[in-house]
Amino acid sequence: MQQSPSKCMILLYWDKTTWYALGPLVSSLQQHRLPYEIIKGDPITQIHTKLDLGLHVIYGESARITTLSSLKDRLSHINEKISSSKLITVIGGFHASGDPQTILEMGANYVIKGEGEIAFPEFIRTLMNTGFQQKNITSLPGIAFLNDGGELVQTPSRDPINLNDHCPYSDNTNFPLHPPIELMRGCSFRCRFCQVPYVYGNPRFRSIDTITKIVEHYIQHFKPLKKNIDIRFIAPNSLGYMEKKRGQPNYEALTKLLKRLSQYNIRIFFGTFPSEVRPEYITNKTISLFDEVTNRQVSVGFQSGSDRVLYEMRRGHSVADGLQALDLLISQGLTPVFDFLLGVPSETIDEQWQTLTLIRDLGKKARVRLHYFMPLPGTPWENSSPAGLDPEVQSEIGRLAKAKIVMGMFAKQFEIAFKDR
Ligand code: SF4
Repeated sequence: MQQSPSKCMILLYWDKTTWYALGPLVSSLQQHRLPYEIIKGDPITQIHTKLDLGLHVIYGESARITTLSSLKDRLSHINEKISSSKLITVIGGFHASGDPQTILEMGANYVIKGEGEIAFPEFIRTLMNTGFQQKNITSLPGIAFLNDGGELVQTPSRDPINLNDHCPYSDNTNFPLHPPIELMRGCSFRCRFCQVPYVYGNPRFRSIDTITKIVEHYIQHFKPLKKNIDIRFIAPNSLGYMEKKRGQPNYEALTKLLKRLSQYNIRIFFGTFPSEVRPEYITNKTISLFDEVTNRQVSVGFQSGSDRVLYEMRRGHSVADGLQALDLLISQGLTPVFDFLLGVPSETIDEQWQTLTLIRDLGKKARVRLHYFMPLPGTPWENSSPAGLDPEVQSEIGRLAKAKIVMGMFAKQFEIAFKDR
């Protein structure tokens, strides 16, 4: 006789730095008619409330390096306060995918590696249909857990999803989620500091038709609520949208996308946070694409003022490419917002000065977000130590920040990079 599905509630933790991931995840839970709530703050009471109703509770969260220490506190708090076989904790996201062991040792029961759109509902449905017998989920692909002996077990990876098959938003009136629209997932480059290609692989693109439908939906949703409807995108390299060959922007597809969207009464933000553009993709031809968009600033990954460091990073572009992007953007009346990364392995003090001197020389022509290298799990540099900063370099960074020439989370990243090392 077939078992009737066990009742459960999925509690998803909301964090201001990871909430974009909730849009597609929640959408897939809705599609599978799985019950969920999004929670903020201390989860203990909310977990207790559901357990008191006799429900099984699945607590889920997305982990990034920046949320790691608060996640650790939350998991130990949950495990200390709640001892119930009806509670299962599941963590996903970049950090969990790259370093499941650490997350599991923090007290999570399971990690879902890589993309959650198919994996997470399948995980829940399997539990529900088998009376929450955890042995039934340990053979699902794309998960990690510690066995009875405390050893890490990782099941084989899942195939990448087709973005066109998955809706990225939720209209749920209790907690609507309309994140920036993901144009693409994955990257054709392999920068040694970045998790994107190592978690998501090569790029996959959302089609222009699918993007248009999502934009139309956002317009319908926001029209009664807002005067201006701002459409933003997620893309590791916006000008790499629909590229057929690495390094060659697909001008026709980009033009078609932006022309299509510019018919609507919306403000289009393309190549701005949370997206970025690689410098060598800004060419005499692609620069004109910014005529179709609202933003007058463009985020560009310049990363270093040293060609040797760019080579070590496997960036695949030079300092000259960054300077050419600067000239082209300025010639078009656009302001570059350059990302620079200091402290990568083997970087010398001289090379750090090359970057800082370049930043100072940029003056008011560009805005600069300065970052400090954090070894991210799953990347080729996960076990590498950041290059230290000499006191003079640190003083110069302080002066640049005071003069508002650089902005960003440099100090916080510096602290995280050396934590537990
Ligand atoms: S830094 Fe950008 S270009 Fe490099 S691998 Fe990551 S997403 Fe791709």
